[in-house]
Amino acid sequence: MTRISKSMSSKITKLIQAECCNYISGECLLCSTKCAQIARVKPGNLRSDQAFFICPWFLDAVLPLNKELQQLLLSKKDKRKCANCGRVFIGGSNRAKYCSSCAAIIQKMLKREYAQRKRYNL
Ligand SMILES: [Zn+2]
Repeated sequence: MTRISKSMSSKITKLIQAECCNYISGECLLCSTKCAQIARVKPGNLRSDQAFFICPWFLDAVLPLNKELQQLLLSKKDKRKCANCGRVFIGGSNRAKYCSSCAAIIQKMLKREYAQRKRYNL
């Protein structure tokens, strides 16, 4: 079992404080609670479980800003490249082709297409 080291914890915390647009003095704008990602990476916490990246926004938008840290954290995980935007993301399932933000957009598109087809009886 790997535990989060002090230096890793402070690197991640600093990255979030500097780069996360939802982070305002300890609080997360999206969740209106304390930043859950920072709480998760306290030194001594276990690193191996899935909940390490508790914040999808952190994984998607903040972590890629620090390539070194990203590689370190993702090295043992199932990395995938989004088929739409090319960003690296963690595959949730074996069929995951898109990162979370593209998946939402693409699903919306498919739904719209389906509705149109239905309307014109194609
Ligand atoms: Zn994408």
